[in-house]
Formats: sequence, C-alpha cells, structure tokens
Amino acid sequence: MIIYKFGGASIKDAASVKKMVQIVQATQEPVIIVASAMGKTTNKLESILKLWFDKQNFDDELKTLIDYHQQIIAELFDNTIPGNLNSLYGDLLDTLRTAPSLDYNYEYDRIVSFGELFSTKIISAYFNRLKSLNVRFIDIRKVIITDRNFSNASVMYDLTKRFALETFVFKEASVYITQGFIGGTTNNQTTTLGREGSDYTAAILANVCNAQKVVVWKDVPGIMNADPAWMPDAQKIETLTYDEAVELTYYGAKVIHPKTIKPIQEKAIPLWVKSFLTPESKGTLISGTTASQYVKPVYIRKCNQMLISVRPLQPGFISQSHISMLFDLITDLQVTVHLTQMSAATFTICIDYKKEIAEAIVGKLQNHFHVRYNTNTDLITIRNYTQDSIELINKQRKMLIEQKTRKTAQIVSIKNEDTDPAMEKI
Ligand code: ASP
Ligand code: MG
Repeated sequence: MIIYKFGGASIKDAASVKKMVQIVQATQEPVIIVASAMGKTTNKLESILKLWFDKQNFDDELKTLIDYHQQIIAELFDNTIPGNLNSLYGDLLDTLRTAPSLDYNYEYDRIVSFGELFSTKIISAYFNRLKSLNVRFIDIRKVIITDRNFSNASVMYDLTKRFALETFVFKEASVYITQGFIGGTTNNQTTTLGREGSDYTAAILANVCNAQKVVVWKDVPGIMNADPAWMPDAQKIETLTYDEAVELTYYGAKVIHPKTIKPIQEKAIPLWVKSFLTPESKGTLISGTTASQYVKPVYIRKCNQMLISVRPLQPGFISQSHISMLFDLITDLQVTVHLTQMSAATFTICIDYKKEIAEAIVGKLQNHFHVRYNTNTDLITIRNYTQDSIELINKQRKMLIEQKTRKTAQIVSIKNEDTDPAMEKI
C-alpha cells in the first residue's frame, strides 16, 4: 500500500483534480490519498475566522470561498451536481451563524478544517461518478486521534494506529481518500496539526499502516536547491537522506513539513516529492541510504529578519548572567533565535521580524542594555557551501554577519540597494 499526498496547489482547480484522478487511475497498488484544502482555501478560512471572531462582516470572504468551490464543482460535474454535494457548506454556515466561544484556537480548528472536508468530499464524489475505481471517503477525525492542543495538536499514536488499521483494510475498496492536516479528540472535537500539516498526516498514516512509500505531489519537479523565484537557475535535488531533509527544514527550506520525516524514518519508508504535472519524471527521493547524500550547495533564505545587538549599560564584558537574562526574555515572548554572535562587549541575535514582538523585546532589553538593531535583513543559509556559493550571495548583498561550520555557512545580509545597513538605535 502506498500513500499519495496532494497539496493545495495540486488540486487548485478542476483541471488539476482531473490530473490527480489520472495519476490515481494509473497506479497499480492500493492507495490512501491524503488531500489538503484546495488552493489557498486555508488562508481564506483563516480570514473568515478572524472576522467572525471579531464580530465583523465576513459575507464577501465567504462568498468568494463558496464561489471558488462551486466553480470547480460545476466544471467537474458538467453542472449536474451530485446530491451529496448540495449540503456541502451547511455545517460551516451553521457554525458561522452561532457566536464563537472565547477559545480562539478551538474555533480555529472548527472553522479552518472545513477546507480539507470540502476538497475531499468533492474529489470523492468525482471519483464515484467516474466509477472507474472503488474509492472510499474517510473522515480522518475518527482515525487520527490527538490531544486537545487546538491548532497545533499532538497525535496519540497508539489509538491512531488501532483506528487506522481497522479503517484502511482494503477489502471493499482499493483507494481511500481522506483529509490531511486535521484530526479529532477522543470526544469528537476537531483539531489541526499546524499549518501545512498534510505532509505530516501522510507520514503518520504511512507509519501506522506500514506503507511501502509516500509520494508528495506538488506543482514543482521535486525539491530544489534554491527557491526558483529567487534563483532562476535552481536545480532539482535527486536524492536526500532523511537527516539532511530535517536539516534543510530546520534552516527554513519549504521542502516538506518539518514533522514529516520522523514517522517515515522510523519505519525506513521512502518519500518521493514529484510534480503532478509531469508524473512520469522522477522527482526527489528522500530515504535512509547514505548513497542519497546530496553534496552540492543548497540555498535557503529566511526573509524579514531582525538583528538585535546588546551591550551592557555599564562598560564591561558580556557576562553569563547577561546572556541568560536575554534568553529568559526571549523565551517568555516565545521567539525563536536563528543565529547568535558574541564579542567581548556585545551579543547579537537574529530573529523573525514581527513589529509587536520586536517592540516588546527592544523595550524590555533597554532596561538592561544599550540596544541597536537592524530590520529588513535576510538570513541566508548555504548547506554544503563552497567559496563560489558564498561569493554568489555576497555579490548581490551587503553582508552583516557571516558564520561557518564545516557544512553550513550562514550569512545575515541586506540587499545592496537597501538603505544604510548601519545598526539603528531607538
Ligand atoms: N491546508 C492546510 C494549510 O494550507 C494544510 C496543508 O496544506 O498541508 O496549511
Ligand atoms: Mg495548503
């Protein structure tokens, strides 16, 4: 048995759904299809949720969302819509008619999960209409059981394994279709696993059902060694080890969801990232064999970073207690530090820039330190760096910090045309 995961871009319109169906029809093995919400539906639902929660009008957003799905349905079913899709939006509309509770994360999961329910109901109805395959729809909320940590729930593996093995038996069906990203608690509340979590769902099911492989279908040829929108001559990576894939996601590569690797690595299940537009081409293979080590440079860019440098108010060295004070503050604000740099009298950190958090940090630090900072910087990580690869980056940018280990170079930089990168003081 194999797992196919189709992301939002690979089911974003009727033509893509038809392509997906062809891929499944051409597959010999039994399949579990894990689907995301169509296109940018999750973002749309997040906007609707915010408006609903803030008691503002969300009619326009809701209409756009429904029209978008209706358009796909109309194209797939030639305007003869199957009965079971008539009430597709009923539960969402009913929920939105009530007042939200005070628990934002709980409401988040209730609303945002509709994206995956819509996509899988539509695709499953389409399969059934074609009648070429015996496809069963599964509500994954009864299989992937999680704790109540709404919007970032943790999976309870033992229960999930039991329910998955009871559900995916492949007797009366050769193909199952189910939702990525969402789960359920033991008392039937809906949960989600964190944004972009459908890859993780595919990996969980692969693990508990002992799948032979996982294929993640995307609209790119595979995992690239840089974002092609940033570096037009980016190349496809042929093979990667599990460990390397984890490293790349750690540095911010949008390869696959970071939690995806552990469940498949544990069972040595290979994962392919392939293009649904050219299913015959090979894609990228992530597996455990060291022969699959990728040795050329991989470029990962985290944009919109902030550098904060502190110096004690009294002249002197940065001490252990200064550093622990700094990190206590950062931990309290739940900020992740991407890079640190220390000199005798200063300590510098690089974090994601978010206005409110930046102001809070700088405000608090000023009680204890002289603070300077840069915003609008990028953190570029080059895995398997070479001198040439570093020069390539430094040619386009003004370097503020550069750090190297044996395998990885990290450069905090600012675009050459940007304003004076000298540190600001507020
Ligand atoms: N639809 C969800 C999201 O966009 C999950 C996923 O796509 O993996 O975050
Ligand atoms: Mg998505």
